[in-house]
Amino acid sequence: MIGAGHGGLAISHFLSQRSIDHVVLERGEVANSWRHERWDSLRLLTPNWQSRLPGHAYRGSDPDGFMTMNELVEHIVAFAAVSSAPVRTHTRVTSVTRSDYGYRVVADGGGFDCQSVVIASGAANIPHVPALSQAIPKPIECFTAFDYRNPDSLPPGGVLVVGASATGVQFADEIQRSGRPVTLAVGEHVRLPRTYRGKDVLWWMENSGVWDQRYTAIDDIERARRLPSPQLVGTPERVMLDLNALQTAGVELVGRLAGVRDGRALFSGGLLNQFALADLKMTRLLETFDAWALSNEVSSPIGVVERFAATRAPAAPRLSLDLGDGAIRSIVWATGFLPDYRWLGVPALDRKGRLRHEGGVVCDAPGMYVIGLPVLRRRKSSFICGAEDDARELVAHLEGFLKGAAEA
Ligand SMILES: Cc1cc2nc3c(=O)[nH]c(=O)nc-3n(C[C@H](O)[C@H](O)[C@H](O)COP(=O)(O)OP(=O)(O)OC[C@H]3O[C@@H](n4cnc5c(N)ncnc54)[C@H](O)[C@@H]3O)c2cc1C
Repeated sequence: MIGAGHGGLAISHFLSQRSIDHVVLERGEVANSWRHERWDSLRLLTPNWQSRLPGHAYRGSDPDGFMTMNELVEHIVAFAAVSSAPVRTHTRVTSVTRSDYGYRVVADGGGFDCQSVVIASGAANIPHVPALSQAIPKPIECFTAFDYRNPDSLPPGGVLVVGASATGVQFADEIQRSGRPVTLAVGEHVRLPRTYRGKDVLWWMENSGVWDQRYTAIDDIERARRLPSPQLVGTPERVMLDLNALQTAGVELVGRLAGVRDGRALFSGGLLNQFALADLKMTRLLETFDAWALSNEVSSPIGVVERFAATRAPAAPRLSLDLGDGAIRSIVWATGFLPDYRWLGVPALDRKGRLRHEGGVVCDAPGMYVIGLPVLRRRKSSFICGAEDDARELVAHLEGFLKGAAEA
């Protein structure tokens, strides 16, 4: 197993349950990504009750709250302890290649021969920064979600935040509050209310079955796997952090950053279309929830049907911005994350460097599995609550593979 995040630990839990001998190799410590690769103010956007792992539910006093990073690390470390996961920390995997036995895994401190490998190294190892960033004029300081910690990380002055998914809207909000004027470049985005009809929107996602939808039932799975994260933030006040809230706070919205030419940032003119699309998709999702509530017995009281105001159109969104006049002093790229497979010496990647897999069973690599990627087996796959079902099914497949190999 490569990686001791909650995904790798969930796999380890089910392997132990089936008495399958294994080891979890972790380059840092248990829950390493949450310890070292997140910004200071981050809380989970999923409520505490949803941070359940196999045999290890949240048992605190605030099930509807949102964990800080320290609380989440404690939760995952406790899970590793109760499941007695055989983790070797500070053991980075540097190569995995095919061998006569199955796979040869080379890691800090030695090598391992194994019949099966589970890649649980995460979907967000490297910040994705578009190539056009190369043309940003030098005096402007650039940051990613991996090096931005809080507004004090930034120089004084205006900030361009690129990307309006969960990460981008959270950055824009806290940077604007710090007194730095923020311009937010908005491309395709997923708008969601924090609460709907008196319940958390993720309660609806889970109970209505939307999050359980399997990858085989999704028409355009490639597109579903590329969807940006929803505009949600976990705060004690349960605020809805959409583009209307950001505009009220003073954030200037512009279209998708489409290019940088002669020191000017160029923005797409399709901003209003993006708003309309996100509003439409949100309303459709709420209608799905309503239809489910109408035709099912809902276990706890829910409020009346709600609809939300359309995203407000800025008067005249600018189409370009001079990056040389000193108004913008820094850029924060909130343009997504990528997995890092540079250690993988097995031809299992596609042209774009993505792992080829069928519901987590890696293609053309018998005995190799992956967990934790977006919409791997279900819509919820890359979320904490998605690990249990995926891990159970992948381990069942893996056991079948080992039995088949033993009989051959
Ligand atoms: C900014 C952000 C916010 C998120 N917020 C939420 C949220 O609110 N709720 C939610 O449910 N989900 C959230 N997610 C999604 C999801 O929970 C994470 O992506 C999650 O970390 C995936 O778990 P994982 O175990 O698959 O990967 P990770 O937690 O990334 O674990 C992978 C582990 O593998 C190790 N590793 C990597 N490469 C190697 C190597 N070569 N050798 C050895 N070890 C290696 C890493 O150190 C790490 O410990 C968020 C993700 C991000 C990026």
